[in-house]
Parts: sequence; structure tokens; C-alpha cells
Amino acid sequence: MTLDLPDLAAMERLGERIAAKLRVGDVVALSGELGAGKTTLARAVLAALGHRGEVPSPTFTIVESYDRLDPPVIHADFYRFEQPREAEEIGLEDYRHGAALLAEWPERAGGFAQEPGCLSVTLEKVGEARRAIVEGGGDWQGRMP
Ligand code: ADP
Ligand code: MG
Repeated sequence: MTLDLPDLAAMERLGERIAAKLRVGDVVALSGELGAGKTTLARAVLAALGHRGEVPSPTFTIVESYDRLDPPVIHADFYRFEQPREAEEIGLEDYRHGAALLAEWPERAGGFAQEPGCLSVTLEKVGEARRAIVEGGGDWQGRMP
């Protein structure tokens, strides 16, 4: 599915759609170049789940936890990974237990597309606007129209 996202309001609507279907164990793999809108979409998902307040970009901390949400959410940014095995070294599986994962630069953590709970969202700049290519794994059948 390809979506045109002309402005931030459109990004927020996509965040709401994802949040409404998000379950424990899912991963939303947010791909796209720097400035494509990965953090913006993660913020939109978190806001739609009821998070109020700051959503720092996890570029330096790698992982930020939002464990009071339903589902609890881990927001991660793997930009600084040099090897996918660093995901194991930081204990990513432990963070993910009982939570949904919003992952920026997923390919640097080995990629998640083979997981049935993976929703891949690739964001592209189109001038000042954005486009999203959304592809769900088997667990997403029927969840994202
Ligand atoms: P990334 O995390 O991919 O590096 P950010 O989300 O931090 O990117 O930054 C994206 C920038 O693009 C922000 O300045 C944001 O305001 C802007 N932006 C996000 N979505 C849209 C959109 N749909 N249309 C226009 N600008 C957008
Ligand atoms: Mg970012």
C-alpha cells in the first residue's frame, strides 16, 4: 500500500491507524533516509496511544521505553549500529518482551521483515511532502486496509 503524506496531519493520521492496530510482539520497521520522517511517525504512534510529553529521538540512547501505554512501546534507533549483533549485545529481546517495537534504521539491526508481526513502513521525501510504502507481515493481514 502506498500513501501520500502531504503534511504533518497526514503523518498523524497514519500514526493513529497504526496505533489502533498495534499489538504486543509487533515491530513497526521505519525505513527511509535522514529527515524522511521516521521519528515524526513514531511520535504520532505514541501520541495516538495516549503518550503525552517528550519523545526524544533515541539516536544516542538507542532505546526509549514507554511502558505505561497499551501496548507498551519500545522506540529504538539503530542508526549507530555497526553490526546487527549489537542488537543482542544491548539485550533487544528483553526490551521487546511484552512490548511493541518502533524501529528506526531496522536494517542495521538485521531487519525484521521476516517476522510475521512486522509492519514495514518506508518513508520517502517527495519535495516537501512524504510518501509511505506500507507492507505488513502475515499477522497484519486485515489490520491495515
Ligand atoms: P527521521 O527520523 O526520518 O530522520 P524526522 O522525523 O526526525 O526524520 O524529521 C522529519 C522532518 O520532516 C521533520 O522536520 C518533520 O517536521 C518533517 N515532516 C515529517 N512528515 C512530514 C510530512 N508528511 N510532510 C512534510 N514534512 C514532514
Ligand atoms: Mg529519527
